[in-house]
Order: sequence, then C-alpha cells, then structure tokens
Amino acid sequence: MKRWNGWGDDSVNANVPAAALRLLESIVGAPATPRDASREKVLASVPPSRLSGETGIDTRPEARLAHACGQSLPDWMALRTGTVGVFPDGVAFPESREDVRALIGTARNRGWRLIPYGGGTSVAGHITPEPSDAPVVTVDVSRMNALLELDAESQLARFGAGVAGPDLEAALRARGFTLGHFPQSFEYSTLGGWIATRSSGQQSLFYGRIERLFASGHVETPTGSLSISAVPASAAGPDLREIVLGSEGRIGIITDATVRVSRMPEEEDFHGIFFPSFDAALSALRELLQGRLPLSMLRLSTPEETRTTLLLAGHARLIRALEGILALRGAGTGKCMLLAGLTGQERVVAAARKELLSVCRRHGAIHVGKSFGHAFKKNRFRAPYLRNDLWEKGYAVDTLETAVRWSRLPGLISGVESAIRGALAADGEAVHVFTHLSHPYQDGSSIYTTYLYRLSGDPARDLERWRRMKRAASLAIVEHGGTISHQHGVGIDHAPYLAAEKGGRGMEFLASALSHFDPQGLMNPGKLIRAEARS
Ligand SMILES: Cc1cc2nc3c(=O)[nH]c(=O)nc-3n(C[C@H](O)[C@H](O)[C@H](O)COP(=O)(O)OP(=O)(O)OC[C@H]3O[C@@H](n4cnc5c(N)ncnc54)[C@H](O)[C@@H]3O)c2cc1C
Repeated sequence: MKRWNGWGDDSVNANVPAAALRLLESIVGAPATPRDASREKVLASVPPSRLSGETGIDTRPEARLAHACGQSLPDWMALRTGTVGVFPDGVAFPESREDVRALIGTARNRGWRLIPYGGGTSVAGHITPEPSDAPVVTVDVSRMNALLELDAESQLARFGAGVAGPDLEAALRARGFTLGHFPQSFEYSTLGGWIATRSSGQQSLFYGRIERLFASGHVETPTGSLSISAVPASAAGPDLREIVLGSEGRIGIITDATVRVSRMPEEEDFHGIFFPSFDAALSALRELLQGRLPLSMLRLSTPEETRTTLLLAGHARLIRALEGILALRGAGTGKCMLLAGLTGQERVVAAARKELLSVCRRHGAIHVGKSFGHAFKKNRFRAPYLRNDLWEKGYAVDTLETAVRWSRLPGLISGVESAIRGALAADGEAVHVFTHLSHPYQDGSSIYTTYLYRLSGDPARDLERWRRMKRAASLAIVEHGGTISHQHGVGIDHAPYLAAEKGGRGMEFLASALSHFDPQGLMNPGKLIRAEARS
C-alpha cells in the first residue's frame, strides 16, 4: 500500500548504510529523533467538509487526507508532524471526458475550486490546497488510465491522462513499444502530471523530454474543450501544445494525450566511468554532447556527491578496493562518477560505446564496467525510499534543480551550494550538500542538488530553516542565470521567482492566457502564477 506520510509502497524499505550515517553525522551533527503524528491523529484533524451530499465526490477524511499533500519537504513535514492545516473538501474520480466536463460545469455554477491530481508526486506544492472561502475539490484522474489507441505504423499511442508510469509502460511493452520516459517518480507519476509539469525522464537524451513525447491531447477547460491534433510538425502559427505543457492544472484538466512511442530498443547499456576531476569530466561531457553522440543518459556527480553515493551503495569492502584502484590510476579524492547510458540498435550502441569510452579516456577517465551502471539501473527507483529512513533517523532531505549554459555552470553550482550552506550558518548549523548534472544538452546542463540537515526537535524551526535554504538557493539560481526549474515545475515554491525569468510582459501574457481558459480562477488557484503576481 502507498505510504500515507512518506515515499512509496510500505512493503519496500531502503536503509541508509551505517558508513553513510556516520559521514552525515560527522558533517551535520547528531539529530533529534522525530516524533511522527499517527494517522489517526491526522485524520482527526480533518475539518468537516463544506460539500454536502454531492454525488460522486468522496468527502471521507481518508480520501481528503490522501489528496492533501504532495512530496515536497513542506508537504512531508506537514504530514509527519500532523500540521496539514488545509484539506480539500472532497475528491472526485471522473472516468471520462464527459465526467470531467460535467464536474467543471458544477464547479463553475457553485464557485468550487478544482485541483487536478495525477500521482501526487509534485515536489513544488502543486497539489496542496490553499486556504479558500470556496469549497475545494481535488480531481483525481487515476480512473482515466486506459490505452485508448495505438497507431503502430506512426508510433503514436493515446492514453487516458491518469495512467501511471508502470501501467503505461506495461501496456506498450506488451505490444513491443516503450515511451522511454523514466522520471525517478515513475512508480506513481502520471502522463497528465508529466505534461502539466514539463517533466524530464532519466533517458531524455535519447527519448526526449515530455515536450518531445507529447504529440497531442484533449483538455477540458472552464470555457470549453481544447483539442489539439497530432501532426509530425507544423508551421501553422504558435504551437498550442505549449500552453498545455507546464500548465500545472491552471487551464483545465488534461483527459487524454497522444504520445510518440518507440520500438523496444535492441540493446541498453549503462556504464560507470570515473574522472580524476570535475573539470576533466565537464570537458568530456561537452565533447560528447557537442559531437552529437547517440547516448541515452549522462549523469555526472561532483566529488562530494561521488563520495556520498559510494557510501550509500553499501558493500564497504568492495568500494574500498575500487577506490584504491582508482587512486592508483589518478582518480583520488577529487574523483567524479559519470553514469552513461546507451540505448538503441545493437550496432549503433556498439559504435557509440566505443566513441564514448575513447572520448572519456582522452580526458583521463577510468571505465569501471557495466556492473556499476547496471546497479544504477536496477536501483534507480529505490533511491527515494532512502528518504523515509533518513527522516526516521532524524534527517530532512530535499532536492532542487535548475539548468544553465555551460559557461555559467561551475559558478551556479558553487553559488547554490554555498547559499544553502550559508543559510543556516547564523544558527551554527551545517548542511550536507552535493550535486550532479542529470540532463546535459549541447549548450548546457540541468543541475540537481541534494541537501540534508538535521531535525532539531522543533518542527516549526525545521520548516523555517528549510524556507531560508530554499530562498537562498532560489536567489542564487536567479543570480547565476539559471531557470527556476528544469523539470519539477513551478507550483507554489518556485512561483516567487518566475517573473525574474519571464519578465513583466511575459507574466502578463501568461496571466491573460490562464484567464482566457479560466476567467473565474477556479482551476488550481495559487499555483504557477500567484494572484499577487497577476496584477
Ligand atoms: C521521488 C521523486 C522523484 C522525482 N523525480 C522526477 C524526475 O526524475 N523528473 C521529473 O520531471 N520530475 C520528478 N519528480 C517530480 C514529479 O514526479 C513530477 O513533477 C511529475 O511530473 C508529477 O506527476 P504527477 O502525476 O504525480 O502529478 P501531480 O503531482 O499529481 O500534479 C502535478 C501538477 O500537474 C497537474 N496535473 C496533474 N494531472 C493533470 C491533468 N490530468 N490535467 C491537468 N493538470 C494535471 C496538477 O494540478 C499539478 O499542478 C519527482 C518527484 C519525486 C517525489
């Protein structure tokens, strides 16, 4: 069963190895053990619903609690400490375009606010209800999850927007296809959520981000239906898919979408490669990307993340032996780990592998083989489970991400890392911060930073500390020319920084586009563009 106050299925556990805990404690100090609120206590805090006797809307506290929070750190803290505060008044489960249309009609007549809900994996506060005088209904689209059409010749598949990653891949694989979209939240996130947040999967280098995979779709909005048809390319004016991508539930509800699928690849390889320094690794990465080598994944860790990842891997003796060999070959304390993926036809993969390894070697890298890469592939959806164990041991963990051009990348990484560390310096508190590049491009890369700090025993202080770190990091991102989000979207947490990126006229345009589809402001209010930023 899905955990109600953490990540993932409650039958799956991942424990942080003792060596990693020792490192953490040596950096941030001994934590206070959290005293989590019980589910019964949190259920008892759900206020009476302001809806009465509406057919097809679940107003039970259990359903309202299950849809009250996403997976951001403030969401986690609210659930763990029993301070959720705002709950939806009810949850609707539409099964068709017609159901969605009827629901939006009722909301329009009664002034309800609607929050579209996919898998609830948002890490930016997208699905968290804001305090409102009007009743709030969360619209869980998980019953619209079928494969509706497969045009095998054109490699186009249409699904209900509520289909979650594993069900979508299973339906395609049974027919010899894959979408190839594997965000780390794959187990629970949905097609509609990916589109609405402009998601990026781990192998986006080969398959593309959701923007490329999303061919067409249908959205029910408060002012009518928006249907976009699938064509391979078009010069017929601005592309309407762009207003759906990243719309974060603000223009309406995506009911179904057509995606570009691929034949299952003949071969898929993942390799572990170590560089003597981060600079050497960056030069190799740029050469690989700017040479347009057909790779499916390049994930490069800084020295600090490399150290932490090796400790988290467990197998202490094996890792020590590996580090000994790497040090003898020139990759000592400043070493960086690159995980490289190759996907596609056998002969293309073989040629790309040869070129990949030859470019890396020219930059001083040591190839440690496939087993390292395959351990990553096997465990890639398990890493978020560590968050449960870390919390229970007294550590809060959060991640943030951005993208920036190559020439500004080193400055942005050090700017963000030192902003996070500096944010708690006044309290005398240390933070463990580390970074990797997860989605590199020809002109730059996404940057993904993880930070851990110890819980203090006072939930209000822990949340205030998170706010300080998040704000400092976001300002550093803006200052260094990065985007406020490369893949997680805007939601509540990134909204204050959106104007710095879009500019005044850009913000006005976005606000008027939202109003065009939703003049009453019924859809997911407060997300993406805050009311105060609209005027
Ligand atoms: C452990 C973890 C790892 C993650 N890894 C990645 C990653 O690798 N890559 C990545 O891109 N993201 C990642 N994320 C973030 C998150 O999974 C994505 O933002 C995802 O796209 C959200 O999908 P969802 O179905 O859960 O949407 P939800 O969280 O339910 O909703 C997100 C937003 O989309 C809107 N929405 C959802 N469905 C619809 C619909 N049918 N119509 C209109 N609006 C809709 C909601 O209103 C909301 O604004 C991760 C999150 C977690 C917790």
